[in-house]
Amino acid sequence: MGNRLNWMEQELDNLKQAGLFNRIRTLSSPQGAHLVVDGKSVLNFCSNNYLGLANHPRMVKAVQEIVTQYGVGPAAVRTIAGTMEIHRQLERRLAAFKGVEAAITFQSGFAANLATIQALVGKEDVIFSDELNHASIIDGARLSGARIVRYAHANPDDLERLINENKGSYNRALIVTDGVFSMDGDIAPLDKICAIANQQDILLMVDDAHGEGVLGRGGRGIVDHFHLHGKVDIEVGTLSKAFGVVGGVVAGSSVIVEWLTQRGRPFLFSSAATPGDVAACLSALDILEESTELVDRLWENARFFKAEMKTLGFDTGVSTTPITPVMLGEAPLAQQFSRELFENGVFAMALGYPTVPKGKARIRVMISASHAHTDLEQGLEAFAKVGRKLGVIH
Ligand code: PMP
Repeated sequence: MGNRLNWMEQELDNLKQAGLFNRIRTLSSPQGAHLVVDGKSVLNFCSNNYLGLANHPRMVKAVQEIVTQYGVGPAAVRTIAGTMEIHRQLERRLAAFKGVEAAITFQSGFAANLATIQALVGKEDVIFSDELNHASIIDGARLSGARIVRYAHANPDDLERLINENKGSYNRALIVTDGVFSMDGDIAPLDKICAIANQQDILLMVDDAHGEGVLGRGGRGIVDHFHLHGKVDIEVGTLSKAFGVVGGVVAGSSVIVEWLTQRGRPFLFSSAATPGDVAACLSALDILEESTELVDRLWENARFFKAEMKTLGFDTGVSTTPITPVMLGEAPLAQQFSRELFENGVFAMALGYPTVPKGKARIRVMISASHAHTDLEQGLEAFAKVGRKLGVIH
């Protein structure tokens, strides 16, 4: 086959040497507090199943019922083959849940970010982007062709300075930030960013992937958390995390949703979510609107786990959400820690470069409402044991 794949083999070896090679575990159970991973039953500290909805019996039943009515696939993009009534219903329900005029769904949160940024700005324009924004925002920004100006992480002063410095050098501008930063678990200062955006009359977009179902009243997200209704132009969300399904959503004014329907490339050139996904999301909305019980339990679990980890002597970084990074420094240590946890019955993945900056490798624990108190205690025990063995705590 010639030599044309040699570079790839070399790069893969380099990743292995550096402890950065992704070894993907195989699950043979549904998502939940416990999983069967590579044939072994383990406590799940990995998934974004914040509310335990990924295998919720009501949602499973809703999917079973809908497929007998609508079948399994949408068979084409919505602009070409028409859109099913349930897709429209989900968008109306999501808009009502978020307290906005309209919403549009995408195949994933990643696709929602790609669609939105490209549709809002182009070559003559500028994007002010938090330096730690998610890869899908970075890719969307690059695809748009707009000039990207990165501001210091969660720093409104730096954002304002850069806006002033760039005045007059662009046609349109967009400020974009993650709501909750997925690797660190800190929350963007959206109130301050929003004040700047409104004062400077610049479009504001927040990616609330990790705030959806987590922050705000009953999980209504970051805009609700900061009481900023009607002040943030675009709220991107994902249905793949707290909602327990898969998909993305953009919520905002009718004009933005109409524009994305006409110009959002993943909407125009990629098939819609399946009827099953949509039915499951509708059922998740029912569950969220009926009670705050799951959101409350998520936060109780997170507060307990984080406090105990700190008492043990772990560095859990700057998180103020259920995302609990356990900072370990170099990638090989994080990988070894993860392996030892697994041997002790806990599935918690190590994250290294490029997912997080070099030298900031970590284990990221994802707390869920599905964890019982005994699960959290089991996890703490394993962390204490491995932490002492590897000299991370004493
Ligand atoms: N934005 C952020 C901040 C995320 O963490 C993720 C998921 N890793 C996404 C977008 C993409 O969401 P999805 O999995 O629905 O594509």
